[in-house]
Amino acid sequence: MGIGRQIKHFTSLVVPRWLLFRGRMAGRKVALSFDDGPHQEHSPRILDVLGQAGVKATFFVVGEEAEKYPALVRRMLEEGHEVANHSYGHYALLDASPADYLADVLHCQKVLEDICGCDLEKSFRPPYGSIPPLVFLKLIRLGFRTVFWSVDSDDSRVEEAGQLVERFSRKPLVSGDVVLLHEDYRHTLEALPVLMDTVRQKGFDLVRCQDL
Ligand SMILES: [Zn+2]
Repeated sequence: MGIGRQIKHFTSLVVPRWLLFRGRMAGRKVALSFDDGPHQEHSPRILDVLGQAGVKATFFVVGEEAEKYPALVRRMLEEGHEVANHSYGHYALLDASPADYLADVLHCQKVLEDICGCDLEKSFRPPYGSIPPLVFLKLIRLGFRTVFWSVDSDDSRVEEAGQLVERFSRKPLVSGDVVLLHEDYRHTLEALPVLMDTVRQKGFDLVRCQDL
């Protein structure tokens, strides 16, 4: 397991449950969220799979990657998905001062809005689920919603699609849950159709975070 995966594993364990985002529970809805894209190879295929299933999702994209693949970001938006902010440089909490962290988030928002040519929902997911308290409060004042997750798909803990499907199928879901997925794992892409079926078979509609 590489260091990046270890960090993802560690931080998802230490995020306090009370900080995890839950929706307003209207209807039976579960949101799928994809972090760390856009990914040159996987994003187009994820979009194809979502499109074939008629599912809209939320993509928390990294500004630095969005600049490399702007057409993929525009495609996400054009196909009805939510494009949201996952920071410009994907800083970890200990790597940046609060001021630098905030500047990085705001820079990402500008990059994404320039690429999309429109204002976007001010929706931010902290890299590794960690955010300095001062930045958290400042973002609220600036109109941002900080969106964590309530169900980790465990795609950062497994190596192949079968394991991911098996783990995910055992997770209890409630309306308003936000499922954490990643764009950079091939097994997530491969498991995606079954993961969506699993949620739907439990009686939930699949929506964007902004629809919860
Ligand atoms: Zn991330």
